Amino acid sequence: MEAPISVLPGIGPQRAKLLEKLNLFTVDDLLHFLPRGYRDYNQTTLIAQVELGEEVVIRAQLASQPREVRLRGGMTLIQVKIEDDSGLIECVWFNQPFMKRALTGEDSLYFIGRASRRQGRVQLLNPTIEKLNPAKDEALPLMPVYPLTQGISQKVMRNLAIAALEYSRGKIADALPQRLRQYCGLCEAGFAIENIHFPKDREALRLAGRRLSFEELLYFLAAVAHLKGERLALTDGQACIYDATKFNAAIEALPYDLTGAQRRALDEILADMAQNKPMNRLLQGDVGSGKTAIAALALYAVYLSGRQGAFMAPTEILAAQHEESLKEFLKPLGVRIARLSGGMPAGKRRDLLAFLERGQIDVLVGTHALLQDDVRFQALGLVVTDEQHRFGVGQRARLADKGKGVDVLVMSATPIPRTLSLILYGDLDVSVIDELPPGRRPVQTSMVPERKRADMYRFILKEVAAGGQAYIVCPLVEQSETLEVHSAQELYRQLAKGPLKEIALGCVHGKMRPAEKEAAISAFTAGEIKVLVATSVIEVGVNVPNASIMVIENAERFGLAQLHQLRGRVGRGSRQSYCFLMGGDLSQTARERLELLTQTQNGFELAQKDMELRGPGEYLGTQQHGTLDSQLLRLTQNLQEVYEVREIVEMLSSDANWQVEAELVFKAAMARHVKRLKSIAMN
Ligand code: ADP
Ligand code: MG
Repeated sequence: MEAPISVLPGIGPQRAKLLEKLNLFTVDDLLHFLPRGYRDYNQTTLIAQVELGEEVVIRAQLASQPREVRLRGGMTLIQVKIEDDSGLIECVWFNQPFMKRALTGEDSLYFIGRASRRQGRVQLLNPTIEKLNPAKDEALPLMPVYPLTQGISQKVMRNLAIAALEYSRGKIADALPQRLRQYCGLCEAGFAIENIHFPKDREALRLAGRRLSFEELLYFLAAVAHLKGERLALTDGQACIYDATKFNAAIEALPYDLTGAQRRALDEILADMAQNKPMNRLLQGDVGSGKTAIAALALYAVYLSGRQGAFMAPTEILAAQHEESLKEFLKPLGVRIARLSGGMPAGKRRDLLAFLERGQIDVLVGTHALLQDDVRFQALGLVVTDEQHRFGVGQRARLADKGKGVDVLVMSATPIPRTLSLILYGDLDVSVIDELPPGRRPVQTSMVPERKRADMYRFILKEVAAGGQAYIVCPLVEQSETLEVHSAQELYRQLAKGPLKEIALGCVHGKMRPAEKEAAISAFTAGEIKVLVATSVIEVGVNVPNASIMVIENAERFGLAQLHQLRGRVGRGSRQSYCFLMGGDLSQTARERLELLTQTQNGFELAQKDMELRGPGEYLGTQQHGTLDSQLLRLTQNLQEVYEVREIVEMLSSDANWQVEAELVFKAAMARHVKRLKSIAMN
């Protein structure tokens, strides 16, 4: 199964290259490449019953010849009417001239898409088309729908899955020990793989999903338990011993009182650091809850104990921001802070590293540039990393390896439901700051209907005139970064020509070179740019206290947690801030989901709701956890399953009856874990 994908019929070098974008290299990758959903072609919707905003599958015929209309700005529009026994509906495609060719033949076509209202008319906007061969396909109740990349169609993906299954028929080895598999009531691997791609029926799909997600969770939680066991056995940490009088004086000197939640987190951290075991703690809290302040205090304690600290941030911009705020707080206390940046002249860098090695720098801030071999500390005591989903466990460990028994503190602004984090971060202890400092004005959040768009732009102009700044985040385009970038550039052009032409606009997106991206963000930070049009890249975390408006286009395409993260970019300064959620015609459920955001500012509450609404698998699937990036987890149906697997892991670790199976499982778990760490470290 480790054979390269090119052994399958129909895959030449060109197609193989495209598939690499989906991380598909081997036949095995293909077998484990899951559909993102299934479509029931027997459950079509009659045209007369189409509702706005709901995704529908319509089986229909062409009722008119496709018409191509040229719009301003080089855009094209394809229009066609389709009909079934119940009525007629119009389909339109923007900028997809090739659709004209697809719209031929007298066969029944399946149109999959959402209905929306444009200029008073109900239309299917950019629907996908499927031509199914009734003789061959009708027997299948559920057809897989795969994530795609440019140049690979649904049909190609399906044929590849069929080819991979054929290639490996009868050869799929079951990684789970049989006795354990039967004890847990799981189906065989071969059955699971086959039915996850082409389910015989819904029950077979359920069994297949359960087996695959169970296995994935089992290996993940087993690895976590194993790592934790290893860590607890370590005693080579150094107790952090410091002058409590000086430390408390620093807390007294803060311009504010710590919140109760901050105090609790700080106490947990200090208690860990006082032990002669390395700390491995996750500090979670909403943006602005005061995590950095707590991290700074932990760094101060380490400084007082005579050792050094490192602070790793995901981008140069964030590193620079952290350097600033750490200096503001720690410099008056005598702490020497320096930043190692990527673009540093060689001579300066050499000097800085020499200072560091001689212990003349107390806290070093930087990006993963800190991981380089020539970065040597005199006595590293504490590593703090920011925004943990950007770093893998492997990277954290590499930094910690630069000292002996180094304490590690991981800060994350991604709130995860507590129940889930206790399980998923089993290798970390968790502190939560679930309270914002007093006096914060909540970000006024509202859903803006399309007809109020012009009003909103006027509001932005007014805010900018009053000294504010705004972000406009473009629709998330799943699986196609190119399309996402196009939509950002397009929106930027429209705004610059039209409603916002009087003010300085900028644009950032994922296809820009890092230097360009940073230049745009710096200009925004400096206030030279008033409105920043961006793809979701800004989620990573820029701190512009002056920014008071966050507009999110097609908000329904984002997860709640993600929207909350984006909203956290505003409301950081003293002015009243606003978050505007745009979304065309929304289904009832989409609307209800978005309304939650207008009701609460609490990230943990939203994360919990998000998980309840979407199920843990889907919820996890859209998160990027350093340790956890398997799409197989998307299959996890409920939290109960997670607990169930955890119990099995406990049984394996403690029950002598299961020793044989336990050895196999832990060995396989660590092998997978190491493989995954490697792939994370490479990214
Ligand atoms: P986070 O790292 O969680 O985003 P920060 O530590 O950067 O939060 O704090 C955000 C802002 O709030 C900073 O300007 C900080 O000085 C301030 N701050 C932190 N803790 C408190 C507090 N207890 N009371 C008032 N302001 C605080
Ligand atoms: Mg911060």
